[in-house]
Amino acid sequence: MKYFLPILFIFFAPIVGLTPTESLQILVDGNNRYVTNKLLFADHSSDKRLALIGGQKPFGIILSCSDSRVIPEIVFDQSAGNLFVVRIAGNVAGSVELESIEFAAKVFESSIIVVLGHESCGAVRAVLNNKAKDIPAIAALIKPALRKGDNLESAIKQNVVSTVASLKNNADLKKLLDEKKLDIVGGYYKIKTGKIEIL
Ligand SMILES: [Zn+2]
Repeated sequence: MKYFLPILFIFFAPIVGLTPTESLQILVDGNNRYVTNKLLFADHSSDKRLALIGGQKPFGIILSCSDSRVIPEIVFDQSAGNLFVVRIAGNVAGSVELESIEFAAKVFESSIIVVLGHESCGAVRAVLNNKAKDIPAIAALIKPALRKGDNLESAIKQNVVSTVASLKNNADLKKLLDEKKLDIVGGYYKIKTGKIEIL
């Protein structure tokens, strides 16, 4: 299954009814292609656009940082229509982001949510260094996640882990988790290598 899914996606996307494990594997495989310069899904043609005109059925939801170096569709090697992406500095889930994620999970029945933090995150760095006066609302969401003595990498990972935990506590998402229709995981993107470490 592992090797067939990416191929199926090229010709028959979108595929519906993927398990959380299958969806995560597609993302992991896509990231491996990105890391090894073997991208498959860079289909930005008008055919692709027109094929999606009737609607979308993204299998994955990504909550990622707005950082211009971390582009979910590229780092997971996915075409239009596959990922429902929520981006905000520091990849936190305030009420607005949460609403967007809940909406996608319920309406599109996406089976995987990835909270994607990244190396050298400026938002987390600002909070860690008490220099976050320009992003007070975001800082208020990041700050409780950080532990005394965290360095930047551990703080970024801790922020991801904390966001995953808060999503798992959401009533609507918890129901889908309990029914095994959804999984929520954290990831840490390394800018240097392009590799995403699943936390
Ligand atoms: Zn960032």
